[in-house]
Amino acid sequence: MTTQDTLRPVFTETFPPRMEPGMLYVSIPYRTCGHLCCCGCGNEVVTPLSPAQWSLTFDGENVSLSPSIGNWSLPCQSHYWIREGRIRWSRRYSAAEIDQNRARDRRLLDLETTVPEPGPPSRLRRYLRFLRP
Ligand SMILES: [Zn+2]
Repeated sequence: MTTQDTLRPVFTETFPPRMEPGMLYVSIPYRTCGHLCCCGCGNEVVTPLSPAQWSLTFDGENVSLSPSIGNWSLPCQSHYWIREGRIRWSRRYSAAEIDQNRARDRRLLDLETTVPEPGPPSRLRRYLRFLRP
């Protein structure tokens, strides 16, 4: 496994059982994107699309995701931006910054949903279940 510096968009309904490195899977029906962590660790990174989570821009060739991808729950804790299909590496966050980010994400989600939000890891599991029944 090597570090990725580019991601190519693949528009699909559901994610494949095994994601390929260097691909950014985009499911519009499920409003979710997925890719393998660009550090090369091989972990899947799922980014739900919503006003409180990530937004996707497709320029006809390449995609950008906003905000940055912070893999705080992975051992690698990598942090990068996906900009026009290119990976822009960002610095790692400190534990305090990660906590701040998580608290902010939860607040935004609380505003958006009426269901109590159990927190990022179970949210992720729910999305994965959703995509792979
Ligand atoms: Zn990684």
